[in-house]
Amino acid sequence: MKKHNFSAGPSILPRTAVENAAQAVLDLNGIGLSVLEISHRTPDFEEVLDEAVALFKELLHIPEGYSVLFLGGGASMQFCMVPFNLLERKAGYIHTGVWAKKAIKEARLFGEVEIVASSEDRNFSYIPKGFEIPADLDYLHITTNNTIFGTEYQTDPDSPVMLVADMSSDILSRPVEVSKYGLIYGGAQKNLGPAGVTFVIVRNDILGRVSRTIPTILDYRSHVEGGSMFNTPPVFPIYVVRETLRWLKSIGGVPAVQRLNEEKATLLYNEIDRNSMFVGTAAREDRSLMNACFVYSDRYKEMDIFEFVNFAKERGMIGVKGHRLVGGFRASIYNAMPKESVQALVECMQEFEKQYAR
Ligand SMILES: *Cc1c(COP(=O)(O)O)cnc(C)c1O
Repeated sequence: MKKHNFSAGPSILPRTAVENAAQAVLDLNGIGLSVLEISHRTPDFEEVLDEAVALFKELLHIPEGYSVLFLGGGASMQFCMVPFNLLERKAGYIHTGVWAKKAIKEARLFGEVEIVASSEDRNFSYIPKGFEIPADLDYLHITTNNTIFGTEYQTDPDSPVMLVADMSSDILSRPVEVSKYGLIYGGAQKNLGPAGVTFVIVRNDILGRVSRTIPTILDYRSHVEGGSMFNTPPVFPIYVVRETLRWLKSIGGVPAVQRLNEEKATLLYNEIDRNSMFVGTAAREDRSLMNACFVYSDRYKEMDIFEFVNFAKERGMIGVKGHRLVGGFRASIYNAMPKESVQALVECMQEFEKQYAR
């Protein structure tokens, strides 16, 4: 049976990226060695890394003066690396969910943290708006897509201070005005590649301004100077990232994938809104194009969530169980998710309604 992968992360990758990676595991470019076996200092890998960086810059229109890094440690490592490198006196954080909370916890180890706005009062079901941003912050940290709660910034916010963003789950799904940001980071495993590599886009001139001593490996400057080769980078995950970026370019880049993402999300949210058994959990204007969260409607709220999860699974739909903090269901429809799979989920929801609605 065809499987449709709605997992939140690690998650679906373009089929061509997976196939090319499989081939490179057996034999990279016909050199008689596996990509798993080569030195990161060989031209064969340097070419991969250089192309991944170049494609990232090209596809996201990253201006001059920024570096693109591929590091280990996940987005969670960035929760501490960001304040370690950038927080001198006071930073602002927008609290929009679990990942934001973890970032806030780490930042507090390094200086004063002001929660400039929060959506905790309604279980993070919206993106806070209409608040003042103090002008004396070292930076303002946002989480552009809240993977667990299914909310997403629809535009890059205006701010009197530089923005720092966790874009783990919506990187390259829409155009970004990179110049508003001092630093953008994320784990690759949502929209970009396999687990094991973290991307960082950093404006070079913001580094080296804090007075504290930073351990060498946690200092972004080590990685900028070393071109992501300060230590052994995650070679294979970077290879897959390069393949994903090639795929993205081949389908028309970010504007094309954004159109596709809008079509997929519209298809799915229309069904969530139409279907008598389900209701969306996120505020309409803040709905994520990447992670659609929904629960049983009031009338069916006593139903076991596994009724639908298993119903979907029997039809090849994997990973639609929601996070325990929201309950219900979550369909992650990242860049690589084909429209046909979203259509299949919609039909599954319709069939479920026919069978179970009272
Ligand atoms: C998944 C996720 C993380 C955590 O990433 P790790 O690579 O596991 O550390 C952080 N932020 C967001 C928004 C995420 O979706």
